[in-house]
Amino acid sequence: MKKLHYERPIIQRLNVGVMNKFGTKTEYAPVTHVDGNAVKGLLAKYGSPLFVISEKTIRKTFRDANRAFKTRYPKVQFAWSYKTNYVNAVCNVFHQEGSWAEVVSGFEYQKALQNGVSGNKIIFNGPDKSMEELTMAIENNSLLHIDHLDELYMIKELATKSKKKPRVAIRVNMDTGVYPIWDRFGFNYENGQAWDAINKIILNDQMELVGLHCHIGTFMLAPSAYGLAASKLSDLALSIKKKFKKSIQYIDMGGGFASRNTLKGSYLQGMDLAPSFDSFAEEITTAILNAGFAKDELPMLVLETGRALIDDAGFLLGSVISNKRLSDGRRATILDFGVNILFTSFWYDHKISPAQEFSQYSEDSVLYGPLCMNIDVVRENITLPPLKRDDQVVVHSVGAYNMTQWMQFISLRPAIVMIDKNDKPHLIRKRETLKSIETEEVLPAYLKDFKL
Ligand SMILES: *Cc1c(COP(=O)(O)O)cnc(C)c1O
Repeated sequence: MKKLHYERPIIQRLNVGVMNKFGTKTEYAPVTHVDGNAVKGLLAKYGSPLFVISEKTIRKTFRDANRAFKTRYPKVQFAWSYKTNYVNAVCNVFHQEGSWAEVVSGFEYQKALQNGVSGNKIIFNGPDKSMEELTMAIENNSLLHIDHLDELYMIKELATKSKKKPRVAIRVNMDTGVYPIWDRFGFNYENGQAWDAINKIILNDQMELVGLHCHIGTFMLAPSAYGLAASKLSDLALSIKKKFKKSIQYIDMGGGFASRNTLKGSYLQGMDLAPSFDSFAEEITTAILNAGFAKDELPMLVLETGRALIDDAGFLLGSVISNKRLSDGRRATILDFGVNILFTSFWYDHKISPAQEFSQYSEDSVLYGPLCMNIDVVRENITLPPLKRDDQVVVHSVGAYNMTQWMQFISLRPAIVMIDKNDKPHLIRKRETLKSIETEEVLPAYLKDFKL
């Protein structure tokens, strides 16, 4: 029989089942496995900390979203938002499911091409596209979503030199009742900028206006905002039809659907708050279907959903470095991952589960990361059973933005493993090494030698 491990006694007031100011206890059972793989085994093999992605969860979430839209609207196309998670294995799961690519930089554009996405299925968004990048995208027949007038004129200039007629859309920003309005991207609907840009494009006749795009925000909790946005884009499309007798091929509603994470300061858990794909789909498709398009002229509906499609598929496994008491008596636990790799700790109260059996006792604690930086806080308040050195934890729903916004700061970035649909793990990104970090560094010869 295994020896029971010692756990120090705690004296505290019991308030079973009653909320305290941090809410109720949330962890009732350990999470010892992710998709059939023991947390301990994964950490032993690939090192701690470790990002783990569940391929099963990605495919299931994608199919759920796809079904929500396809059962309500005849022409639907998803495009995977590269910046949300551009690890190639992740992108390719989405491409296998039928997603195009949505990119916001030349670097991401190249990544999509290298992953094998054909140019005409790459949507090029964002305010920063160089002449070279625009030229390449025009030659590849990609979809250029124009952000500002300077870009419009750059494309116009390139169009006079190219044999290809650039396929463009404009990004439209608008009031959808959610504030502050994201009006820094694209052309405004209410003040007429968008209509002006449309007229400039169509009357110049050097570009092909194929679509209308918006991306009204991120972590949006109000499906009705999408209904309003879809109505406004539909209005623009119908005005184009009326004035120019020209049909727009697609309406692109961007991304922004909330995932099931809990925003800091939110009273309710994200799981209870995040609207379903069905509720977003219902708002968007109803608005377009009711707008007044002729049956054979309904535009294709494009969606660039990022976080809501990948967040739940990502897990971060890590280990406890130490425990300590703060000067005010609170318990603090130091983990081997911090805001350097779990960037979303700045916005979310991540759900964190112990990976081993624990007793019924729990204590309010602070979770810190390993950085020598005061801001390195993973959770300001969490009610967890006591953890000791080398215990392990699982952080849930970390698939969006962490693997792109992570920093190589103080320590090296961890490996990423994808667990396939037969529960087999695959290494999809190696743990960084001093060597891999230093490949880009150049030390001038005269600085090599010193005496101390
Ligand atoms: C970031 C981004 C997305 C994805 O947004 P999510 O909030 O992750 O769904 C989609 N489209 C554009 C233009 C973006 O910039």
